[in-house]
Amino acid sequence: MFRPGVVLAAAAACALLLVGCSASGSATTSTRSHPKVVAAFYPLQFAAEQVGGSHIDITTLTQAGVEPHDLELSAQQVASIASADVVLYIKGFQPAVDDAIAQEAAGKAVDVGAEITHLTTGGAVDPHIWLDPANMTAIGNALANRLASIDPDHAATYRTNARALAAQMVVLARQYQSGLARCASRTIVVSHAAFAYLAKAFGLQQVAIMGLSPDAEPSPARMAQVAQLMRADHVHTIYSETLVSPKVAQTLAQTTGAKAVVLDPLEGLKPGSTDNYVSVMQANLTALQANQGCRS
Ligand SMILES: [Zn+2]
Repeated sequence: MFRPGVVLAAAAACALLLVGCSASGSATTSTRSHPKVVAAFYPLQFAAEQVGGSHIDITTLTQAGVEPHDLELSAQQVASIASADVVLYIKGFQPAVDDAIAQEAAGKAVDVGAEITHLTTGGAVDPHIWLDPANMTAIGNALANRLASIDPDHAATYRTNARALAAQMVVLARQYQSGLARCASRTIVVSHAAFAYLAKAFGLQQVAIMGLSPDAEPSPARMAQVAQLMRADHVHTIYSETLVSPKVAQTLAQTTGAKAVVLDPLEGLKPGSTDNYVSVMQANLTALQANQGCRS
């Protein structure tokens, strides 16, 4: 497609900048490549897949099976951030990603948590926003707005896709609301404090053995405190994770006579997994209903 206005504008830009322009490349809008979207970790990749569909190229910084909190970036990954059109991340979640964005991609980054009312845990801002489906809708909308501005040809598609994601999240939230409406226990004892947004959305009470990050070994005092609380509240389940060693949860399960069951904080998929955000959230709901004594 030949558009004289675009050619003139591009030529003028080249004349002004004198760098980075070639006569053919700048004038040929029809061969423009897809926007390159870098997602910091899995739930943001899922949002990008849903909203961008086949119109964007997605790279995910955190590989399947890797726990994302303490991600380290290779030089190649930092380069992918520098050359991206959009970098999706949650500020304060992955320090290495925050640093790379500050140095390489300040104007191209979308902090998907920026529009969300954050919860605090132990005085620190809780980054685990994706575990409330309503927040996934906000993430999808933020991405659709950014994509629409850098790739206006497909703006309508991005917005339609974001509405479809929102509809999926409404269905998921309704499943949670009805599935967790009548439960014998509303206290969930979890490994690290990832579930505050989910707990708030659906009327549960999170008790975390560890803090906001899964790396710190809990003190014996904290273990004893949680064990005492479990006895007082008649809690018979401890939720462990997919990407973190279940050792701490299993130890506490042994000392309290509880059973350890997986509740996936969706910080990443396991290698080779065919699951996605929705299927893992549905498996989590099934685990909660079975172990919190919920009646349907
Ligand atoms: Zn976490």
